[in-house]
Amino acid sequence: MTESLLSSRISSSVSSVSKTEREELLAVAEEIPDLIKLGRGDPDRDTPEHITKAGIEALENGYTHYTHWAGMKELREEIAKKLKRDNELEYDPDGEIVVSTGVQESMYVLFQSLLDEGDEVLMADPHYTSYDAVVEFAGGELTLIPTSEEDDFALQPDAIRENLSPKTKVLVVVTPNNPTGAVIPPDTLEEIADIAKEEDLLVVSDEIYEKIIYEDYEHVSMASFPDMYERTIVLNGFSKAYSMTGWRIGYMAAPADFIEKTERLKHTLTISTNHASQAAALAALKGGDECIEETVDVYRERRDYLMDALDEMGLTYGYPAGAMYIFANIQPTGRNAFEFCKDLLTDAKVQIFPGTTYGNGEGYVRISLLAPTDQLKIAADRMAEVVKGYVG
Ligand code: PLP
Repeated sequence: MTESLLSSRISSSVSSVSKTEREELLAVAEEIPDLIKLGRGDPDRDTPEHITKAGIEALENGYTHYTHWAGMKELREEIAKKLKRDNELEYDPDGEIVVSTGVQESMYVLFQSLLDEGDEVLMADPHYTSYDAVVEFAGGELTLIPTSEEDDFALQPDAIRENLSPKTKVLVVVTPNNPTGAVIPPDTLEEIADIAKEEDLLVVSDEIYEKIIYEDYEHVSMASFPDMYERTIVLNGFSKAYSMTGWRIGYMAAPADFIEKTERLKHTLTISTNHASQAAALAALKGGDECIEETVDVYRERRDYLMDALDEMGLTYGYPAGAMYIFANIQPTGRNAFEFCKDLLTDAKVQIFPGTTYGNGEGYVRISLLAPTDQLKIAADRMAEVVKGYVG
């Protein structure tokens, strides 16, 4: 096929983007009937009824307009209350909180607002790779800090120090983590905060999985440590905790004079976030955490089942203390991560993603917990058969 005129004139920032292994696997998956999908980070559970109802009622009652660029005042006030209640953070709803089209939009806005050409951003690897794109589009360089199965893939303070350079400007902390399920313990987070202060780093604290923790410890926000408020941008959203990925709603919180400077960019991208989704998010925050607890109980059962199944297959993994994934070591099979995922897809009709989709994750695969429990159990049986085929 000859290339179109428009394609031939594509900008240099876009032309560098090539098709990923993940996209190739998604394309193969489209041809496979009865596939069990443990790939994407998209909850299989419905949005809780009281939230959906609030969204429908909002549409029926004229919530069909632009809002303030930073979101409905009532929602910002409720977010401020949540940040106080859950995270001991004080943010002014009038000026320090921006409601965005998913956390994803906030990520784009904040890196465009923070980075100059060549500025470096540090983050743990394996990682959520949208950070590659938002940093690259802003002219920055992402430096990945290796984590290991031995440490359950938790970011280690010493490793941050080893990867610092004079150009390091921002540290991204994602806990609980996608794709590894790692949770950084509060005392380690405090050490990381100390490094940020010593080295004058800004911190992007992605807390989208904060409510999905399976162990006894409470999530602690990076912004809550002494003197961290001024150098931290908190990201959080509704997609994961409330199974609301398709509503596209999240937010960022940061000091007012920074937020003020992001207005033009946010306004240019989306003017304001979907009105009815904002009403639904308000109902989510007002409705309490019970629905989240139910979801976490379901995910915990699935996680425990899968961990047992992997143990039986003789495969190890980083302990998934949070989020909705298990990052499993498939090296005993002798297959590389992509080959293993392709085999599983075509031979066993189970979709998972190679660790290489998330940076330097060769030898690992990410299994999401996001299929109905009965299907997830079938998927584990099928995977066991495939693994048996390699390791005997
Ligand atoms: N941050 C992390 C770590 C994620 O895993 C995701 C989605 O998978 C996002 C942000 C984006 O979430 P949202 O749906 O709010 O845009």
